[in-house]
Amino acid sequence: MAVDATLPYDDSNIFAKILRGEIPCAKVYEDDHALAFNDINPQAPTHILVIPRGPYVSWDDFSARADDAEIAGFIRAVGAVAREAGLVEPGYRLLANVGPHSHQEVPHLHVHILAGRPLGPMLAK
Ligand code: AMP
Repeated sequence: MAVDATLPYDDSNIFAKILRGEIPCAKVYEDDHALAFNDINPQAPTHILVIPRGPYVSWDDFSARADDAEIAGFIRAVGAVAREAGLVEPGYRLLANVGPHSHQEVPHLHVHILAGRPLGPMLAK
């Protein structure tokens, strides 16, 4: 079910459990501000999720409440993950779903990194 990105943060969500180490993930990167792991249901040969360590529901919530160090750290982490995975050439797609119309399923901000083949048009027609 898609989530309402305006609701308060719910720390029982699956990515909060991954951050607390309560459930495993296929980790590819971590630093003080971010954790990255492979998506459990990949939509492309490379499908990585990057999440901030702080309790933010969505991009909207993060951009409104996170401090400058958290925002800089998270944005830099997304770039570092893509570079370390060798994706800069021939390229990759970043995607962040916010709210029900985008079909956000997990109410903890995550950026999808998709790569590994030509990804086609931005949206299904
Ligand atoms: P979204 O629709 O943008 O909220 O995307 C949620 C993503 O989280 C989907 O691509 C799921 O496949 C992925 N996902 C859900 N549970 C897990 C998990 N335990 N480990 C890794 N990825 C997950």
